[in-house]
Amino acid sequence: MLRTFGREAETEPHRLEKRLASASRPIRKVLEASLEGKELGASDARALFETRAEDLQALLETADAVRRRRVGETVTFVVVRNINFTNICYTGCRFCGFAKREGDPEAEFLSLEEIARRTKEAAARGATEVCMQGGLHPRMKAEDYCAIVRAVKEAVPEIHVHAFSPFEIKYGAGRSRISVEEFLLRLKEEGLGTIPGTAAEILDTRIRKTLTKDKLSAREWVEIVKTAHRLGIRSSSTMMYGHVDGPAEWVAHFETLREIQKETGGFTEFVPLGFVHYDAPIYLDGVARPGPTREENFKVHAVARLFFQGWIDNIQVSWVKLGPRMAQYILQRGANDFGGTLMNESISRSAGARFGEEISPAEFCRYIREIGRIPAQRNTVYEIVARYETTDPPSEWEQPLAPVH
Ligand code: SF4
Repeated sequence: MLRTFGREAETEPHRLEKRLASASRPIRKVLEASLEGKELGASDARALFETRAEDLQALLETADAVRRRRVGETVTFVVVRNINFTNICYTGCRFCGFAKREGDPEAEFLSLEEIARRTKEAAARGATEVCMQGGLHPRMKAEDYCAIVRAVKEAVPEIHVHAFSPFEIKYGAGRSRISVEEFLLRLKEEGLGTIPGTAAEILDTRIRKTLTKDKLSAREWVEIVKTAHRLGIRSSSTMMYGHVDGPAEWVAHFETLREIQKETGGFTEFVPLGFVHYDAPIYLDGVARPGPTREENFKVHAVARLFFQGWIDNIQVSWVKLGPRMAQYILQRGANDFGGTLMNESISRSAGARFGEEISPAEFCRYIREIGRIPAQRNTVYEIVARYETTDPPSEWEQPLAPVH
């Protein structure tokens, strides 16, 4: 019965057939085209975002079927440590509850020694990756970002460095008056592997003006990501939704990402990031709504599965934003990746996210088996490192972390 966690106890093809039969004709047509592997247009995606009741159920079931066809029954996760090296930032993004001012009791700026220590500790707990993002610290220059990568690679040469959002790339290059291309090349020489496709928020000028005062324009985000991909530095792709946005902007954002992928092939995955409102200034000021609804969470992942089919086939669910139980539901409605173990995530927590700082590899395996799927550890670029069909990850990976300082 675990296999049907949150679902009706029916066989999958039968359930799909039944759902399609009860959908309206126009929606059934779009879903059937998707099941045949056809590419969805913007108007199809807009129609799917409008679905309700039976049509919505048919969308979710189709997303699950397309997931099965494209990537099978494996649910992947990555063993990773997030190292948020500084939270000092004066940029003033209105959705951010993470940034602090220098001198604030909670302000942090980690030394290179501490970054190296956390990296070694992560490797001992099975990490294949460190993910590093931080505030735009007023004294950081390109060389400081390079020194961070160097410190990690000197500590653990084989670890993958996934670091610095396009906003940080623009900032570091600007601070040292070098081009984005030159900065990325220097980082790559130091050992940078991939960059997070964060700071995309929603690639729409009106929305960005509200969220970030457009300090990194949509055009700049696209250019930086394409430059990275051209230099062999792949990235994730993301969308932060559920604030002052809606389906029209989501579809345009999806189109932009798919166009980039057609040109570069550099995206490893798509990660929808639900807006965490609790401590975000834009919510506290009454401008943004209180995050996405449950239905919107389902739709964004399901439509992404269909819209990106054949171009971006890894759809990640963020347990940090949604919690592991909701993540389980979404993994049964289009998603195939559970994200990372994290070990000390602090950005979402600072904005008030209620979920923990870490899910251990063994816990991931339990959550994945509960929904009748096969757990597998992947690396940053989605190569399988280990399958845990019947065995569990090493128990020494469960060691408590040393207190951070
Ligand atoms: S989102 Fe990043 S750049 Fe914006 S205020 Fe927060 S830490 Fe600074």
